[in-house]
Amino acid sequence: MTTPSIVWFRQDLRLADQPALAAAAHDGPVVGVYVLDDDAPGAWKIGGAQRWWLHHSLTALAADLKKQGVPLILRRGDAVAEIAKLAKEVGAETVHAVHHYEPWWKTAEDALGKALTLKLHGGMLLDDPDSIRTGSGGRYRMFTAFWKALRERMPPPEPIAAPRNLSGPSGKIASDDLADWKLLPTTPDWSPGFADWKPGEAGAHAALKAFVPKVGAYDIARNLPSEEGTSRLSPHLHHGEVSPAAVWHAVAKGKGDTEPYLREVGWRDFTSNVIDILPGYADANGRNAYDAMPWREGKDADADFKAWTEGRTGYPLVDAGMRQLWTHGWMHNRVRMVAASFMIKHLLLDWRRGEAWYWDCLIDADYGNNSVNWQWVAGTGIDSNPFGRIMAPLTQSPKFEAADYIRTWVPELAGLSDGAIHDPEEAGCRPDDYPEKIIGHREARERALQAVKKVT
Ligand code: FAD
Repeated sequence: MTTPSIVWFRQDLRLADQPALAAAAHDGPVVGVYVLDDDAPGAWKIGGAQRWWLHHSLTALAADLKKQGVPLILRRGDAVAEIAKLAKEVGAETVHAVHHYEPWWKTAEDALGKALTLKLHGGMLLDDPDSIRTGSGGRYRMFTAFWKALRERMPPPEPIAAPRNLSGPSGKIASDDLADWKLLPTTPDWSPGFADWKPGEAGAHAALKAFVPKVGAYDIARNLPSEEGTSRLSPHLHHGEVSPAAVWHAVAKGKGDTEPYLREVGWRDFTSNVIDILPGYADANGRNAYDAMPWREGKDADADFKAWTEGRTGYPLVDAGMRQLWTHGWMHNRVRMVAASFMIKHLLLDWRRGEAWYWDCLIDADYGNNSVNWQWVAGTGIDSNPFGRIMAPLTQSPKFEAADYIRTWVPELAGLSDGAIHDPEEAGCRPDDYPEKIIGHREARERALQAVKKVT
């Protein structure tokens, strides 16, 4: 019997259009492995909400592989050491994996490549950002130019179907029990609000199918938090339950202008491009001048941060977003921007505090997407909104028709009219159980502009 090869699964938890799995299947028997490697040096530990997702996604992947006789072996610890150990146990020499761009994964890939034959494949992005070069051979640092160059290389190759010729090795291989990883919350179980999500490859394809008829309306609908105008594919894409190429081809067949949506998917490639060239981007300002920014610190700042996380700022759109995030593990993009801007500029808190909070609460928490978007909003990034462009939550709210969204997530305000709900304090009808504004908009704006003058 031929020796098996190992497929190292990470954020590529699918069978279809999974080049590492396809290549391994071509070679002979396959052993799948997922290593929970929380202590990898420099790794951002998987956040609370994402652990919930991971549990269900691994359950689905294991079931799908099992149908084809392939085991999904679970191990916990140093990924390189665990995979080397597993290879010895099963007599494998080759490991196939989809290449990932998080700095700790790149380090692990380098180390594993020294210990075993590691064959890395694409599949995480539309294209490898390293091959998208400026005229002078450099890397892009601005989205617009990056997208133009990437767009010219599109479409991506047609997605390949899940292999039908899979087989596993004979004999039993030791594996952790997923339940022992305790990825699901118990005391308390804060996950009932996640019930609508369907982690796993089947859920990803169902979400994609449901979205395609809506793609023509996306350009306008994507900004309206009261509507379901976006695809909600982000947790599926982050965990690799569907490939971006499969999304591209499905959406491109939709009716109307599909370009605005494809461009957003292109943002995902761009953020991986950024962390590929600046691996510490989640921790360090893209523009050094901001290292001296006088962010607020201390007791009052901590209290304001807490109020923000709990959705008690007195700004209904911000509070609705923060409560959606806590309850549902996801937040509408327009509101992610407004809430992030509010924390950074109205509260004058270091963007990294909010970044870490989103990371822990988002089911789609993604090293590249989260850091690049936080730095974009903060104005600290290499391609950013200027700091001085301060979003006005009280204006954004009626502009993007957020009344019903607020009613859903801030029940204290559910009885208010469309006219009053965006700023109940100003309308003179703030219910007693809804907080006063934590700071006035003009005062906050002035404070932020004074602060940034010190560094720019
Ligand atoms: P759609 O509008 O349907 O977009 C389709 C896909 O394109 C998304 O699933 C996502 O993969 C990609 N995409 C869309 N917008 C962006 C963007 N601005 N940047 C990168 N990719 C994008 N997205 C994450 O996946 N993980 C994060 O951790 C994350 N953190 C964010 C933090 C802040 C402060 C902000 C402003 C945005 C963040 N985003 C993040 C981007 C964006 O908000 C989400 O990708 C989007 O809301 C997901 O919903 P959707 O799948 O319905 O998106």
